[in-house]
Amino acid sequence: MGYGETQERLLSFVSALEVGLTRRFRGAVDHLRIALDVRMAAGQDLPRCFLVVYDSVPGGTGYLKELMRAPEPLLEVLEQALQTLNECTCNQDADADGCYRCVYAFRNSYDRESISRRTAQRLLGEIVQRKGLLKKVTNLSDVQSGNQLLGSPLEKRFIEALRREYDGARYVLTEVLFKGKPGYQLQAGERRWRMELQVSLNDSDGVVVASKPDFVLWPDDGVEDQPIAVFLDGWQFHKDSIPEDLAKRMAISKSGKFSVWTLTWDDIDCALQGKNSMTPSPWPTLLIDGSANVVSKVCEAQGLSNAINAFKSFSPFMQLHQRLGA
Ligand SMILES: [Zn+2]
Repeated sequence: MGYGETQERLLSFVSALEVGLTRRFRGAVDHLRIALDVRMAAGQDLPRCFLVVYDSVPGGTGYLKELMRAPEPLLEVLEQALQTLNECTCNQDADADGCYRCVYAFRNSYDRESISRRTAQRLLGEIVQRKGLLKKVTNLSDVQSGNQLLGSPLEKRFIEALRREYDGARYVLTEVLFKGKPGYQLQAGERRWRMELQVSLNDSDGVVVASKPDFVLWPDDGVEDQPIAVFLDGWQFHKDSIPEDLAKRMAISKSGKFSVWTLTWDDIDCALQGKNSMTPSPWPTLLIDGSANVVSKVCEAQGLSNAINAFKSFSPFMQLHQRLGA
């Protein structure tokens, strides 16, 4: 399901969906979870969102099978949700845009500001009205029609690599809405970051050559630290634009306000396979003449203060991994 990207629309719709599922299955739906799946498409400014309903009980409880055996049961859930919202007594209070009997039922008070019964009614109404036009797809790649909408497998693999455990350390990535767009919160040991996707950096960020890193990680734990701009290099888009790309990345670095990291397909692939990167690390060479000062300075500029000796032997991905948890 692709739809609006704002937090209000997202949370309102998810809340209404929970109302509908509870009604359909008479309350016993704690094990059904709704997750946000975000996919970037090349040439698009905004990610596409999908809601994934899954069963948290291993092996499943049969509810989802029942729901997906035909289009009707799912549409019934949406219709029942709309009916519940339309009939809720809070409709009679002009100041109330939801209550604990309807859209607030499953949400904590923090989320409530972003939940609107009217928004949910409008979204559900649009779907129910057009129910004859809904199409079933067996594969999400079918949704991304046309070749301009290729998802980026590299971005997905980067997220996957960040979620892996390395030497007993596993970072937790949670999908969150950040600046109105789907993004991630990354808990890296004691450190916490907010990860924004497809960020435009320009003059207003002190970056003289405008560019769009694939990810920017913003410190989210009060630690005074620079945000990190991450570029993922898929070879097919870059071989003709290397000088331009370098200029962009240097401009970000020179702003003094960001650290810059570039990762290749190889770097991420190796991390996923638990191998060292095939891309040779420049660090051992830099250290051969004993110019450790240079290395410390570079590390300092990248915000790395400790464990420099161990650090130099890491692959670029693992360096970033360490950096995030440091
Ligand atoms: Zn209500």
